[in-house]
Amino acid sequence: MSLISCLFCKIIAKEIPAGIVYEDEKVVAFKDIAPQAPTHILLVPREHARFVEELADKGVVGRIYKIAADLARENKIADSGYRIVVNHGRAAGQAVDHVHFHLLGGRDFSWPPG
Ligand code: 5GP
Ligand code: ZN
Repeated sequence: MSLISCLFCKIIAKEIPAGIVYEDEKVVAFKDIAPQAPTHILLVPREHARFVEELADKGVVGRIYKIAADLARENKIADSGYRIVVNHGRAAGQAVDHVHFHLLGGRDFSWPPG
């Protein structure tokens, strides 16, 4: 998928509205449109890539984990526990081909995941 037609690139560029909860020069975080938990935030690098390993700037991944931990505290799910999920490829359920990290919390999760 090209950058021009990428949904998350459009959200990052603010061409499509989203509930943005955090942004800096490398990362944007916004509320998932179909939340699967009371807190469901997507953290995305501004750089377009399908998968983590295709990112030119892999340092952004550590930054995203730090931001996710800060957002977990802000959303009061840090103490109860939360999940950070990356769906990589179709079998894992990746629907948007711009790498993104799901931050999920506010309920109990089962293991193994479905
Ligand atoms: P994936 O299945 O690729 O791991 O996750 C894609 C996520 O993007 C899904 O949880 C879906 O609900 C969310 N999503 C899809 N379209 C939109 C949208 O237009 N706005 C927002 N905020 N989230 C979206
Ligand atoms: Zn993109």
